[in-house]
Amino acid sequence: MDMQTSFLDRLFEAGLLIDTGIDGLYGRSGQFEEVIAAFERLIDKVGGGDGAEAMRFPPGMNRAFFEKSGYMKSFPQLAGTVHSFCGSELDHVSLLQCMEVGDDWTKGQEATDIVLTPAACYPLYPTVAKRGNLPKTGGLFDLQSYCFRHEPSKDPARQQLFRMREYVCMGTEQHVTDFRQRWMDRGVEMMKAVGLDVTIDIANDPFFGRAGKMLANNQRDQNLKFELLIPITSSANPTACMSFNYHQDAFGAKWGLNLEDGSVAHTACVGFGLERIALALFHHHGLDVKQWPANVRKALWG
Ligand code: ATP
Ligand code: ZN
Ligand code: MG
Repeated sequence: MDMQTSFLDRLFEAGLLIDTGIDGLYGRSGQFEEVIAAFERLIDKVGGGDGAEAMRFPPGMNRAFFEKSGYMKSFPQLAGTVHSFCGSELDHVSLLQCMEVGDDWTKGQEATDIVLTPAACYPLYPTVAKRGNLPKTGGLFDLQSYCFRHEPSKDPARQQLFRMREYVCMGTEQHVTDFRQRWMDRGVEMMKAVGLDVTIDIANDPFFGRAGKMLANNQRDQNLKFELLIPITSSANPTACMSFNYHQDAFGAKWGLNLEDGSVAHTACVGFGLERIALALFHHHGLDVKQWPANVRKALWG
């Protein structure tokens, strides 16, 4: 193997990822998608007995809910908004002229009521809050969505549009922290079953700015976020392929999520980075799925 050829270039050459000219924005081949589908079936099998309610939201969400979430306070650098042309015929003429001479035609675009979903669970909280108090058993939800984050990179594991499969749990502190621990154990087992060596480590979100450093330290000190790491592009800095987040009662309080007795719900979410897991599989077992170890193929395709 030519040491100069990056993993991203090899993925392009093999046709697994398709270059669009933008770092972090890729097409995926049928083979790549089959790996993701197989891994999602494994997730279904492992989590299927828990009785989670499945919901699928599109990759855009209600801008008002996004604003209320506070995302712009913590991660303004990652957010993506949807803008559209809303002008008159005259405005259209100037728009086309602007494009013709190569000026910035996007200046006149107006914000719509939709922003790109930053994490699969964001549209869920207001949706569940609208239903009223949670039942005695709490809430358990199964989500999957394309998510957008403005973090262009040559690292194929850091994409701008990628899929996150999530389970979200709502209930008492004990209930949701048990849920999180159960998925940490399951995550390690699942990765072992597909031949991937993992470590679990404490983590923090990339909060923006100087004030963000404090939020990040606080998150670590309180053990609020863990990641399941697998080496993909670097063994010194392995990549987070799953994350396990405990929000305490912060989302419950923000969205008005209450338990049957009226107390504020605690929440936790567990996220699988589907492209990252597929990339970890291709990195460890090779770019030709037919050559993968028999036990790995069996775990994925039976
Ligand atoms: P990282 O520290 O690598 O930026 P993160 O902490 O931002 O990851 P989360 O916000 O916890 O990740 O998102 C849940 C999961 O989504 C991650 O565990 C990861 O597998 C996946 N993920 C996050 N960002 C990306 C990305 N840019 N491209 C592909 N997958 C991603
Ligand atoms: Zn989440
Ligand atoms: Mg990140």
